Amino acid sequence: MTEQKIYNTIIIGSGPAGLTAALYAARAELKPLVIAGLKPGGQLMDTTEVENFPGFPEGILGPDLMENMTKQVKRFGAEILPENVTGVDFKNQPFKITTDKAEYFSKTVIIATGADANWLNLPSEQKLRGKGVSACATCDGFFFKEKDLVVAGGGDSAMEEATFLTKFAKSVIIVHRRPEFKASKIMLKRAQGNPKIKFITDATIQEVLGEKSVEGLRIKDNTSGKESVLSIQGLFVAIGHTPAAKIFAAAGIETDHKGYIVVKNNTRTNIDGVFVAGDVNDPRYRQAVSAAGMGCMAALDVEKWLANEESKP
Ligand code: NDP
Repeated sequence: MTEQKIYNTIIIGSGPAGLTAALYAARAELKPLVIAGLKPGGQLMDTTEVENFPGFPEGILGPDLMENMTKQVKRFGAEILPENVTGVDFKNQPFKITTDKAEYFSKTVIIATGADANWLNLPSEQKLRGKGVSACATCDGFFFKEKDLVVAGGGDSAMEEATFLTKFAKSVIIVHRRPEFKASKIMLKRAQGNPKIKFITDATIQEVLGEKSVEGLRIKDNTSGKESVLSIQGLFVAIGHTPAAKIFAAAGIETDHKGYIVVKNNTRTNIDGVFVAGDVNDPRYRQAVSAAGMGCMAALDVEKWLANEESKP
């Protein structure tokens, strides 16, 4: 029987957090394994132009940025597998990670599985994603200069995105499904005080109109049932995110009330030897560069953890 290979560290996820962790771990000669998931690259694979990742004065396409990061990581010998993690066992050392193809063992794990934007789940919305429908104003707002836009949602994100979009857009309408807002008073007030922002409440978005780009939005008043069409060129969906943390929570990793993994000390989780980086821990900043920064931190923390274990008598 062949002896089971035990990795120093296994990184789960291959967005900017996971790949930056892999880069640091590989350069520290930890020979990391990255389990990249079935859709390697994370949320940036769904974006077009990325203009706020430092080092690219002309901007770079999201998928190209992820390809560059992957190449850079491979150059230092990290192993990357396009497999999907289906279960983890953090009860004993080494930790066991099960994928759709095999089982892997590791002394440490960095969870960098990210988060997914929530969508309205209308077929027309999905069809026009990247063609006028977006879930990230910071990423895509710049492309909507002098356009009429709608932001869907009633939380802080919707207020923040709408306010941000007024820098570029001609007008922004916040369409919210209830008469009351979930947003904090201060964020709501700021949006209400902005002359470019209007509100439609108690309304449901029924359909995004347009074939190759967004041309309008069909909405329904929830009280009267009356439908109307807004003539717009962009829809920003800001109805929250879902962190990809369920299988880790099931294995004893502490999450907050929204399902985000909680950090205990720097990038450590509540389980010794399990670290976290990126959007799966971060409902607030959600930027490629902040995720990459945390990936670096997690790898450095892993390196220290391993050195500490080795020095134990
Ligand atoms: P929230 O969960 O706070 O709000 C989501 C909003 O989207 C709610 O108004 C909700 O409606 C609405 N919504 C959810 N699902 C649907 C749906 N299917 N159709 C239509 N509307 C829907 O998420 P946010 O992303 O706004 O905020 C997440 C966290 O990040 C919060 O804690 C927030 O405070 C924080 N944040 C802070 C910021 C800051 O301080 N600068 C900026 C941005 C976020 P309903 O109200 O009916 O449930």
